[in-house]
Order: sequence, then structure tokens, then C-alpha cells
Amino acid sequence: LTVLGIETSCDETAAAVVRLDGTGEHRILSNTIYSQIHEHETYGGVVPEIAARSHIQVLDSLTQQAMTEAGIDWHDLSAIAATAGPGLIGGVIVGLMTAKSIAMATNKPLLAINHLEGHALTARLTDDVPFPYLLLLVSGGHTQFLLVKAVGDYERLGTTIDDAIGEAFDKTAKLLGLPYPGGPAVERAAQKGNPSRFKLPRPLLDRPGLDMSFAGLKTAVRTAALKEEPVDEDTVNDLCAAFQAAVADVIGHRTERAFDVFRQRYPQVQPTMVIAGGVAANNAIRQRLQETADQSEARLIAPPHKLCTDNAAMIAWAGIERLRLSRDEDPTALSGNGIDDDMDESPRPRWPLDQLSQSVYGSGK
Ligand code: ATP
Ligand code: MG
Ligand code: FE
Repeated sequence: LTVLGIETSCDETAAAVVRLDGTGEHRILSNTIYSQIHEHETYGGVVPEIAARSHIQVLDSLTQQAMTEAGIDWHDLSAIAATAGPGLIGGVIVGLMTAKSIAMATNKPLLAINHLEGHALTARLTDDVPFPYLLLLVSGGHTQFLLVKAVGDYERLGTTIDDAIGEAFDKTAKLLGLPYPGGPAVERAAQKGNPSRFKLPRPLLDRPGLDMSFAGLKTAVRTAALKEEPVDEDTVNDLCAAFQAAVADVIGHRTERAFDVFRQRYPQVQPTMVIAGGVAANNAIRQRLQETADQSEARLIAPPHKLCTDNAAMIAWAGIERLRLSRDEDPTALSGNGIDDDMDESPRPRWPLDQLSQSVYGSGK
């Protein structure tokens, strides 16, 4: 199985080819990406119209490049997979329509992939990770704990009730005058700071369940900064250190509880947690998660950074997982049983992962 993947749901335009051969060996044949960061940085955040236009401008040549680097021809493809949501609708339209055109012109099946499913399955592309496992998705747009039970079978265990973590990093950076994207800037400043000069809250930790909140933390940074006027460099560093420590603490505590939930559900299985999303690049957070996993005798898996953030290899791979599923059920068919998608599949701005089993895999799963 050889699948072309296309990803355009946010501010990265990406195309990739992934192959799974008969022995179960899988390989990324190409993985091209164009980051729009510089087009958005003057605005301090992603501007949807600029993003959509930029996707249109680069996607064709990027797709061609992915095919050339993979060294394959259109007729070598088993299917075309593209992100069909959730995401910024203009970008999703560009990617999905491009994939439909290629699918139509080459007479190959189309796979309309949920972007979050791409993140959820990436670890199986890079590591040997059997189902079930936990996923912590921490990016600019998402902060959630998911239980990944099988391809197409996901349960959301907890989520942020307000800002995503990446968003909180970005907003904190902005209010402290640090550059966009905020995550790396805050992490650099935090390395030079003292985390105990400012006392920041640990929102929601007293509540049961796995939900989180980060908006209050960002507001607490603003309040502390206002009291310090003028805010000098040391103060910025100390505020960043305190903020990052608070985030790591909240995530650490929630992860501990996630392992408990997993153990209740699957007493025989050693818990594994996979992390994905741009925030997974943060070393303080990674370290805290590793400590938590060690204490809980659980396994922590962090795919390479390039595959944690938005990319098209994860979309192609999610497509392969779906094709493989249908092939295992009916060895004579690549398609059939509703696992590949119709040309009338529409782009979706919102598409929660736990609704996937009905919308894509049929209600039988
Ligand atoms: P989504 O994938 O949810 O649609 P996105 O495109 O914003 O959203 P990613 O590209 O995966 O998500 O990640 C970008 C986010 O990760 C940004 O908010 C950025 O600030 C954050 N980030 C990147 N590096 C770090 C870091 N070292 N520490 C903390 N946050 C980081
Ligand atoms: Mg991004
Ligand atoms: Fe993403």
C-alpha cells in the first residue's frame, strides 16, 4: 500500500508519501513541508485568509515534489489521503479539493482523514505501539487526553475547558513582548529564569476527571507583570519560568490520573502514553511527563519532533491504517465496506475524534 497524504488544516502546507509493504514494513518515502510561520509572525498569530491563499500557492508544487522525492508515479499510489477537518476551513478546502482532483484524474480512492486521527496514529508509524494506548495531544489548537482503542475507535477522556496549551504559551509570549510563535520563545526565557519568584495557580487540579484549564494561568501572568512595571528582562524570564513550571505541573498531575484511568479499564495492560503536537517539543514538559511515567511504571513515547507537529506523513499513515483495516476484512478489496470516501465528502471546521466511529467507520465499530 502506497498513499499520498496532504495536510493543509492550519499554517503548514505538507505533502508526503508513505508505503506499507507485504511484510508489514513501513517507510516514509517523502515528507515535504512548507511552514507559513513567517507570513503570520507580524500579526502574532495565524490569519486564516493568508493561510488559505498560501496553501493554494504552494500545494501543487509541494505535492509534485513529494512524488518526485518518493520516486514513484501516480499509478503506483493505492489512494490519496487528505485532511478533511478539523481546522481552518479555507485551508481544509484547498487540501481536500486538491486531493479529490488527483483522485479523480488518477482514478484512485480518496481518503478524507480526520487531522486528529493523524496525530493519534503517528506513534504506530514510528514505534511499535499496540492498541490500546493513551494519547496526549498538546498543540496550538488542541489539548486533550484520548484513549486510542483501535483504528477508528477513539474516546476523549479530558480536554481543556478554555485555552489550548500552545495558545496559552503564544498569548503569554505576546503579553510579555516575546516573538511569535510563543512556545519556543517562552521556553528559552524560562531557562534563564527563576520559577519560584512568582507563585502562579494550578487551575482545576482539585477537580476530579481529566479536564484542564489554562486561561487563568495566562491571566495570572498578566496580573503579576502589571504589578512589576516596568517589566525588565529578569522579570520576563522569571514569569516564563513560573508559567512553564505551572503548565508542566498541571499536565503532570493529569497524566498521573490518566494512567490510573487506563489501569482501571485495562488492568492487564501496561499503560503507554504517546505525546503529539507542537508543545510536545517543550523539554520541561517532556521531562515532567517522563518522571510521571517512570513513577507510574508506564511507557512514554514521543515521536520525532517533525512528526509531532503538523505534517502530511501522519495523514498518509492514517490512510494506510484504514486501507489495511479494510483489506484485512476483505482481502480482495482495497475499498468497499465504506472505509474509503465518496467524492462528496465535505471539509469540516469541527470534527471531534470520538464521533469518527459513526461518521467514517460505520456504526458497527
Ligand atoms: P493544531 O495542530 O492543533 O491545529 P497548531 O498548528 O498550532 O494547531 P502545532 O503546529 O502542532 O499546532 O504546534 C504549534 C504550537 O506549539 C504553538 O502554539 C507553539 O507555541 C507551540 N510550541 C512549539 N514549540 C514549543 C515549545 N518548545 N514549548 C511550548 N510550546 C511550543
Ligand atoms: Mg502549526
Ligand atoms: Fe495538528
